[in-house]
Amino acid sequence: MIEIKNVHKSFGDVSILKGIDMTVQKGEVVSIIGPSGSGKSTLLQCLNALEPIDSGSIVVDGTDVFSKKTDLNNLRTTIGIVFQQYNIFPHLSVLENTALALKVVQKVPKQEAEQRAYDQLVKVGLGAKAKMSPTQLSGGQQQRLAIARALAMRPRYMLFDEVTSALDPELVREVLDTLRMLSEEGMTMVLVTHEIAFAREVSSRVAFFDAGLIAEIGEPRQVIDAPLNERTRQFLAKQIH
Ligand code: ADP
Ligand code: MG
Repeated sequence: MIEIKNVHKSFGDVSILKGIDMTVQKGEVVSIIGPSGSGKSTLLQCLNALEPIDSGSIVVDGTDVFSKKTDLNNLRTTIGIVFQQYNIFPHLSVLENTALALKVVQKVPKQEAEQRAYDQLVKVGLGAKAKMSPTQLSGGQQQRLAIARALAMRPRYMLFDEVTSALDPELVREVLDTLRMLSEEGMTMVLVTHEIAFAREVSSRVAFFDAGLIAEIGEPRQVIDAPLNERTRQFLAKQIH
C-alpha cells in the first residue's frame, strides 16, 4: 500500500502541499479531483520521487520513497506513471517505444522485452500497430501506447495524471475504457482526473484537493453525490457530469 503522511512541499517560497495524509490500499482506485493549481500533479510526482518533499513521509509497500537507500529505478518500476503529455520517441516503432525502458532500465534481453511489450500492446488494443511509427497513431492510441509502456514494467501501482485532458472528446472514451479494464483487473491506481462521471464509476474513493490540502475524501457516492465540504460542492457544480 501507499502511505502518505503529513506531506509538505514548497516550490521556492510558495507552499504547494500543506499536509497531505492519504493511504491507498492494494486494489483500490483513488481519484483525485480539484481545481487547477491545488497540487494534484505535484503529489503524484512526489509518489515516485520525481519531486522531493520538504517534510512528512511517503512509504510504498514498506519502502520509504525518500530514504537514501531506496533504489529509484526499482521504485519507478513498482509505481508506473502516465502523464497528459506522453513522451514518445517518433523515430522508434510503437513496439520499440514500449520495450525501451525494459531494455535500458531493467536490462531485460531484447526478445523477452519485445514479447512483454507486445503483450501489453495487445492488451490495450494496439497489437496490430506494433510495427508502425507512433506518429501514425491518433492521440488516444498514443496515450494507450504510453499506458502499455508503463504496464510493460509490471508495476504494482499506476498513477495517471489527467491522461485524457489533451484528447479530442471522441478519443477520451477509448482511454477511459483502458483504465476501466485495469481497474477491473484489480490494478491499484491513483488517478487525477476531470472526468467526474468516470471517477464516480471506477473509484473506491475520491479525494477533493483544495489549495494543497485534501478538503474531503471518501466513497464517490459521498464526495461526488453528497459532498460535505462547501468548496467540493462549488467545484462540482462547475463540472459537467
Ligand atoms: P494541479 O495539478 O492541481 O493543477 P500542480 O501540482 O501542477 O497543480 O501545481 C501546483 C502549484 O505548484 C501551481 O501553482 C504550479 O504553478 C506550481 N508548480 C508546479 N510545479 C512547479 C515547479 N516545478 N516549479 C515551481 N512551481 C511549480
Ligand atoms: Mg495537474
